[in-house]
Amino acid sequence: MANFQQQFEAMGYKYDKLTSVGYNNVNGFYFTVCVAPDGKQYTVSVSFALPDANAAGYFNQALGQFLAERKKTIISGVYANNRLDLCYKFKGLAPDVTEGVKEATDACMYFFNQFRAVPACSCCGRPNGTSLYAMEKNISALCSECFVSERSRISTKNRDIDETKENVPLGIVGSVLGALVGAVIWVLMSVLGRIVWAAGLASGVLSFFGYKRFAKKMTRKGLIISLVLGFVILLAGMYCAFAIDVYNAENDYLTEYNTYFSDYLDGPREYISYFDALALVPEYFVYDVGTAIYNNIFGIIGYVVAAVGCIATTMFDKKTKNRIERLM
Ligand SMILES: [Zn+2]
Repeated sequence: MANFQQQFEAMGYKYDKLTSVGYNNVNGFYFTVCVAPDGKQYTVSVSFALPDANAAGYFNQALGQFLAERKKTIISGVYANNRLDLCYKFKGLAPDVTEGVKEATDACMYFFNQFRAVPACSCCGRPNGTSLYAMEKNISALCSECFVSERSRISTKNRDIDETKENVPLGIVGSVLGALVGAVIWVLMSVLGRIVWAAGLASGVLSFFGYKRFAKKMTRKGLIISLVLGFVILLAGMYCAFAIDVYNAENDYLTEYNTYFSDYLDGPREYISYFDALALVPEYFVYDVGTAIYNNIFGIIGYVVAAVGCIATTMFDKKTKNRIERLM
């Protein structure tokens, strides 16, 4: 993991650890740099207003040219609602924001000068005096009016959340429904002879969001319930998929036996039912543990990835809840 904090501080930027955002005030303009959670890209953002539609047209032209010359490093560049977002991709093995941030800042300052841009509120777009605030998960430049309304929106929203009662039974229903989707995908794919780690991932993620949606709230209790249910249901899906394999293997064998050997031995034997196959799973599992584990391990890895993501999301939500902080 690259040390972004060090990189930002070396450029005179400050770094917000909670949101992984670097920020700086360059001649009154607040630049924020957000490193994507997957560590593959980062976005340089700045809010500003242009004097008129003409200037905006010229700016967009200049931006288009700037982007065309940097197709290799910039994934996208969008100027909308008085805010410019330049999305850079990391080059090489050691992710480094320095080069892109410097380039973006220099280019922006050049354009701002040329088109007489002024710092603006990222919410209303007006060139009123702005400050940089951390508002829960977001870091943005806001004018004082927008700051006040955003602050009251957040406190109302959180009061509603706090007053909402967690409906655990319904949450369990949602969790089961979500996890079932993943488990069914697993069974279907396994019938097709495919091992899909994303089915394990889906079990975890959908179980989590199923709980949250139905219980109307996510607490630590809900997190534990949904992750346990998601795992149990995925395992049940894996068991059912295994039984389908057993069912096919046993009956293929019986077909062969009845066709070629039954006449010489003690007569035709009856085919087994799917329920018989379910009972035979443990025996097959023990007989070839290696293959059994190999066939399911990727689904379980997918599930673990989902679980880690859900835990991280819950912790991030908790840490940023009610966060209102003036940064600059
Ligand atoms: Zn505003």
